[in-house]
Amino acid sequence: MSKSEPAAAPALAGPFRAPDRSFRNPWPGSELPGWRAVLRMLTDRRARPRAATPRHGTLPISDPQIVYPRGGATECSATWIGHSTTLLQMAGLNILTDPVFCRRASPVQWAGPARVMDAAVAITRLPPLDVILLSHNHYDHLDKAAVGTLAHAHPSATWIVPLGLGAHISAWGAPDIVELDWWAGTVVHGLRVTATPARHFSGRSLRDRNKTLWCGFAIEAEGRRAYFAGDTAYHPDFGEIGARCGPFDFVMIPIGAYDPRWFMRAVHVDPEEAVRIYQDLVAPHPGAAFPVMLAIHWGTFRLTDEPMDEPPRRAVARWHSAGLAADRLWIARFGETRAIVPAAEPR
Ligand code: ZN
Ligand code: ZN
Repeated sequence: MSKSEPAAAPALAGPFRAPDRSFRNPWPGSELPGWRAVLRMLTDRRARPRAATPRHGTLPISDPQIVYPRGGATECSATWIGHSTTLLQMAGLNILTDPVFCRRASPVQWAGPARVMDAAVAITRLPPLDVILLSHNHYDHLDKAAVGTLAHAHPSATWIVPLGLGAHISAWGAPDIVELDWWAGTVVHGLRVTATPARHFSGRSLRDRNKTLWCGFAIEAEGRRAYFAGDTAYHPDFGEIGARCGPFDFVMIPIGAYDPRWFMRAVHVDPEEAVRIYQDLVAPHPGAAFPVMLAIHWGTFRLTDEPMDEPPRRAVARWHSAGLAADRLWIARFGETRAIVPAAEPR
């Protein structure tokens, strides 16, 4: 059996389920900060000024180079639409991650984190979608209005979601849904998709904490492999993801929303940990070319305390100090498209 059959391999770390059926991260020390910590964080935030938020629309942008309706079977390119929303044109398929197009990452559109940068591709300008990957239900990853719009405009798309999320997006109009537990896989439109472990949590209200699962995704078609980490803190199983689902040509790893560290470290990696994830993913394949890493989850919504342009600066600094090839780290402009081609020099 090939390594692309992860569901058949021995069981690995899966999410625990509490007696109330809510999900838990399996790694020690994964408990979320309690309400006292939330209060302390908010009090601290008020006490010290945080870096100014850039004016709307002032981070670098680029003209997307999307292929309509689809790229060739042997081609692979990615377009960063912003935050964790990326269009991947791979193996003749159009794959979209965590589609968010709303103005605020919030339950209401009159309050909550507003966009610093608009979605770089209008939702009406997407090519015909084949697969939509949803990592979890936080508002900066799951946009109810976008689900309705996409479900209507792309009726043949298959939505792939972690356990428990299917009922929600079905109610919002998504017609074809596959729910996956960690390490479970499916094949849709010729694309093999495996849900991968992430250290995070879920919830859209005060009453649904961890009722639905969170995950990343590894995908494979026509011999090309990509990985979308979703939202995650650092955990010890990225090497296993690389071993089972790699070697990857392209990986999307979050670098932003990490300060204050004492509070955020349980749910989001910082840029240095993002680079460590990359190193863990590639370690099991010493003979393979290095994948391109697209840095996601920064610059779009003001979610946390760090300056909004700090994540890429710190990611680049760590990348260089780790001795990694500069052309393998992609700090994209909003809307930028890049062809994913093998490294010029294999390792
Ligand atoms: Zn999240
Ligand atoms: Zn997020």
